[in-house]
Amino acid sequence: MDVTHEVFNQPTPLTNINLFATNRALRDALRFNAPKLDTAELEQLGAVLGSAGMQAHARLANVHTPQLRTHDRFGRRIDTVEFHPSYHALMGLATSAGLHGTPWAGGAHAHVRRAAGFTLFTELEPSTLCPISMTYAVTPALQGNPAIAAEWGPRLTSRAYDPRFVPASQKPGVAMGMGMTEKQGGSDVRANTTEATHEGRDAWGERYRLVGHKWFFSAPMCDAFLVLAQAKAGLSCFFLPRWQPDGAVNAIRIQRLKDKLGNKANASSEVEFHGAQAWLVGEEGRGVPQILEMGTLTRLDCALGTSGLMRQALAQALNHTAQRSAFGKPLIAQPLMRNVLADLALESEAATALSLRLARAFDAAAADEHEALMRRLLTPIAKFWICKRGSHFAQEAMECLGGNGYVEEGGEGVMARIYREMPLNSIWEGAGNIMALDLLRALRKGGAMADALEHELAPARGAHAAFDRFAAALPARVDEATGEADARRLAQDVALAVQAALLRQHAPAAVFDAFCVSRLAGDWGQAFGTLPSRLDFDSIIARAMPQP
Ligand SMILES: Cc1cc2nc3c(=O)[nH]c(=O)nc-3n(C[C@H](O)[C@H](O)[C@H](O)COP(=O)(O)OP(=O)(O)OC[C@H]3O[C@@H](n4cnc5c(N)ncnc54)[C@H](O)[C@@H]3O)c2cc1C
Repeated sequence: MDVTHEVFNQPTPLTNINLFATNRALRDALRFNAPKLDTAELEQLGAVLGSAGMQAHARLANVHTPQLRTHDRFGRRIDTVEFHPSYHALMGLATSAGLHGTPWAGGAHAHVRRAAGFTLFTELEPSTLCPISMTYAVTPALQGNPAIAAEWGPRLTSRAYDPRFVPASQKPGVAMGMGMTEKQGGSDVRANTTEATHEGRDAWGERYRLVGHKWFFSAPMCDAFLVLAQAKAGLSCFFLPRWQPDGAVNAIRIQRLKDKLGNKANASSEVEFHGAQAWLVGEEGRGVPQILEMGTLTRLDCALGTSGLMRQALAQALNHTAQRSAFGKPLIAQPLMRNVLADLALESEAATALSLRLARAFDAAAADEHEALMRRLLTPIAKFWICKRGSHFAQEAMECLGGNGYVEEGGEGVMARIYREMPLNSIWEGAGNIMALDLLRALRKGGAMADALEHELAPARGAHAAFDRFAAALPARVDEATGEADARRLAQDVALAVQAALLRQHAPAAVFDAFCVSRLAGDWGQAFGTLPSRLDFDSIIARAMPQP
């Protein structure tokens, strides 16, 4: 046979690396936000997450997508979802790492530690984290029904993954999801038409029957869900288990699975409730604030998840351009490519800084008023801004790989997977506009928000003229709480100021300076790779390289 060619000038894949040890931005953010944290467990997790074995599971779980089985062969309803074994391997790893609930057991820096693990896991595979995130997020909202919280709490935080479709009482560990969105309204859940009829009272409190539907219902094989439905006093929050306490399967019919752009390993369904048994959580008529206690935490995860996706996309871009040559040099040595890579590195580090800072607020809010204000202020800001930057970021990182970046290759195309995932974190759990409007709502409640922002930005004052100018203008705008049409701009600007202040405190001077010059002083174009060429690209790129 004729030899047509040799394969050369193609990179070796980024595999068998420790995702934690090679991520300087994350480690510095951790040192800042959780100075006493023992990172040994994260170091171990980082090695597993970057291993060829887990990468194979991530690929397989996305190629062999979940399958719905509505009926058995005799025609009986079974309403189950079948997953590839690799999905279960990923879920098992995330659960054993405690990404779904360990912070509720307490301990110093528990949310930050978990946030770092979640970010690292996203680099490997984001879609399995949907039920993991919802399970993490449900605990505070579930306190609205003390009997259920007491019974389910230990199972929700257990590190045992048990995918069997059996009553929760027979399982060491469980997962939970949420159902708000209906066909006629997702952002505006007040439009929900699912009806809750009071049926009686038992050991779990007030029991109802639900009749209606949910248009998006992710991870339907979870053991229970928090859902919204209309009761006599208005929209209310309910605990809806897959199995009734008497051992019968609850009347939740899975209609079909969504055919999605990305997020392939996760099953997202449409469901109907045919008189399903559910128990009131919180007060009747107060369903939205009750379930939003859950939504606040999943919003944190959207910011963390996007930061992880950005970091993985950047690492892929750096790995490729370091090994691929064009026009006589490695791509990474080409001046214009250095501009693109440095710009992406700035964005990635700023996203990591803001999302981990927000996680710190969740650790400290109960005991510290400033942190409580930051949790309220930075949740919509981080969710809005980081997620908004994600798709643009992924496209540019993908382009660094040229045509290879656009290729799926049986699921080996990590960039394609990241690109398809990116828009999702911006849409679900409150789309961009909803986050910007939520920021206005937080500000209009008055109080000390502008002062808190000043306090947050204070450590960077005097460090850069661009920062001082930018930050000086913000508190007045926060105080005025602007009109709705200006809300995105305000969210963006507060995000940029907080990101800069954080970079001043835990990133090298080259990163802080370049961020201020480009993002705050406006010496920047409208695409990545438009930084002024006088900036210190060498330091910024060297810091971001995925090497220990
Ligand atoms: C893969 C996937 C999984 C999901 N899983 C779940 C799940 O498990 N449980 C669940 O409950 N939901 C789930 N969702 C639904 C998701 O949360 C909603 O799609 C989202 O909240 C938006 O609601 P909507 O689709 O009804 O869009 P709409 O509410 O119609 O919004 C459309 C657009 O209008 C904007 N908008 C809305 N109101 C305003 C306003 N006042 N001013 C300006 N702009 C506005 C929004 O920002 C958005 O951009 C999932 C969605 C996806 C894609």
